[in-house]
Amino acid sequence: MAGINLRGVVKAYGKTQVIHGVDCTIVDGEFLVIVGPSGCGKSTLLRMIAGLELITGGEISIGDRVVNDLEPAERDIAMVFQNYALYPHMTVYNNMAYGLKIRGLAKADIDARVRKAAEILALDDDLLRRTPRQLSGGQRQRVAMGRAIVRQPSAFLFDEPLSNLDAKLRVQMRLEIKKLQKDLGITSVYVTHDQVEAMTLGHRLLVLNAGIVEQIGAPIELYEHPATLFVAGFIGSPAMNLLPARIGEDGGRVELSGGDGLPLPPGRFAAHAGRTVTAGIRPEHFEMVADDQSNGHGVARLAVDVVEQLGADTLVHGHFGTDRGVLTVRLNGTQDLQSRQVLPMSVQPELIHLFDPDSGRRLGG
Ligand code: ADP
Repeated sequence: MAGINLRGVVKAYGKTQVIHGVDCTIVDGEFLVIVGPSGCGKSTLLRMIAGLELITGGEISIGDRVVNDLEPAERDIAMVFQNYALYPHMTVYNNMAYGLKIRGLAKADIDARVRKAAEILALDDDLLRRTPRQLSGGQRQRVAMGRAIVRQPSAFLFDEPLSNLDAKLRVQMRLEIKKLQKDLGITSVYVTHDQVEAMTLGHRLLVLNAGIVEQIGAPIELYEHPATLFVAGFIGSPAMNLLPARIGEDGGRVELSGGDGLPLPPGRFAAHAGRTVTAGIRPEHFEMVADDQSNGHGVARLAVDVVEQLGADTLVHGHFGTDRGVLTVRLNGTQDLQSRQVLPMSVQPELIHLFDPDSGRRLGG
């Protein structure tokens, strides 16, 4: 096993730079998920680690070896792709054994490794004798993982491995991958555009946007302290509401553009008093309150536009005061609400995120 180190990694296709200098240390045994929207450079970054793309600048090391100039086969990694990349004419057993055969391993050793991987992945003898087209999507993905496991690599690289599966199977396979990585403890880098998949799988997430690292951190760290507007909007479902606002003159209140305001933690934003900001509030952090309780202070009035009853909770889409921008509030359980109703809402001051609308950076720590 081995850690992976990226230092100032740059990629350009011709004159177009698509990765702009990525630094990241992935420790031995860690599960790092690279997440970001389509086209942000996730696959390119992963393929550079694998050796399938040349590195334009910077340095990548696996364990204590710089691998910039090593062929993929010399890097001691195993990659699992979205399209499984299985050999269609070979049995499942031979699909897993093939890579070991061409490396000249003894037959008994190959057999032991394949049997062990099959056991880990619950692939029985009947399945081992079939060819890939006689398998379901989930079983094919399991075989692709089996082929990676038998190699006993120092790292696994996963490129959107669950994209071809239906929603239910994705959730099941996600749990299997998580358990497998935990049990084997092999350093893993996993690429996905799906933030829920990223949040549930990764020890840490690297959020990539247009080839630039927005933030690296544990899932909850990103949820609780997004460093940028991009991370704030990308992590969490339904997405965080991002509202035009201004910090009040004493720094103790945020004035929302519809005319209402909410209290901020005392002192934290004093240095930013009077500043134009973007206020970020997660749908689940609004609380419905009795208007008279708060005496008109610290309450924002939500005019309801549309209500979605989801059973376990209710999504209310509406707007504040005169503001036209739509925002979403998530309330527990079922709620008897009508459109055009006005609901007084409060938010705990420490759950309000403020960002500089120009730089996109978080304010106030
Ligand atoms: P992601 O995996 O996040 O969807 P990619 O890594 O596939 O993104 O692509 C990142 C950017 O690099 C995109 O703008 C894409 O068009 C560009 N790109 C990828 N491969 C090539 C290539 N072989 N030649 C030119 N541009 C490429």
